[in-house]
Amino acid sequence: MSYQIAIDGPAGAGKSTIARKVAKAKEFIYVDTGAMYRAMAYYLLCNHIDPEDTKAVEKSCMEADITICYEEGEQAVFLNGKNVNDVLRTEEVGNMASLTSKNPKVRLRLTSLQKALAEKNNVVMDGRDIGTCVLPEADVKIFLTASAGVRAKRRFDELSAKGQECDIQKIEEDIIKRDEQDMNRKIAPLKPAEDAVFIDSSYMSIDEVANEIMTLCEKSTSKIN
Ligand code: C5P
Repeated sequence: MSYQIAIDGPAGAGKSTIARKVAKAKEFIYVDTGAMYRAMAYYLLCNHIDPEDTKAVEKSCMEADITICYEEGEQAVFLNGKNVNDVLRTEEVGNMASLTSKNPKVRLRLTSLQKALAEKNNVVMDGRDIGTCVLPEADVKIFLTASAGVRAKRRFDELSAKGQECDIQKIEEDIIKRDEQDMNRKIAPLKPAEDAVFIDSSYMSIDEVANEIMTLCEKSTSKIN
């Protein structure tokens, strides 16, 4: 039986930074489920699919073969055999992912892949519905959040560091819109699992959040020998 740490929360809450750090410390794999929805969105964007055209999204998503592998501990997402990691972290792809992740067929394709990874490996998995839908039996569940202003600043810094031109005001608006879409969709909405531990990272350092999660792991019954 694998050990599972689920981290959910809104856009830009720092989930991936924290999840990567915890995964490294525990020697687990880190599964970034947002990257899978982004890879699907990238495929739909490349094929000029209208995100509101449900039939076109459903037809097209069946043609996208998304697989994951690990290169020096880092998750690499392959779309129809090509590594697409470098093109996924734009606001355009993130917004398209939020619009198309409400589609049940898109979700079914990706959640089966996520569940299969967690069956075979000890995982830290982050996303929106991990504690509620993908890994309801996870050993530790976290709902990680921060104020919209703090999250926008973090995303702005991340994109600027990569040399992408961006406007912090626009990022904050996009984040708020994306959270609303993710929280209000019918299927697997963004919400804390009933047994999730809520962490507001607005005024916490990365190390403080990671340490809190490590402490929660120590407290939970360990299945690892
Ligand atoms: O976390 P990230 O910003 O990469 O996620 C992009 C989008 O993918 C989210 O806004 C959300 O709509 C979708 N997503 C999801 N379920 C997940 C992870 C991401 O619906 N488990």
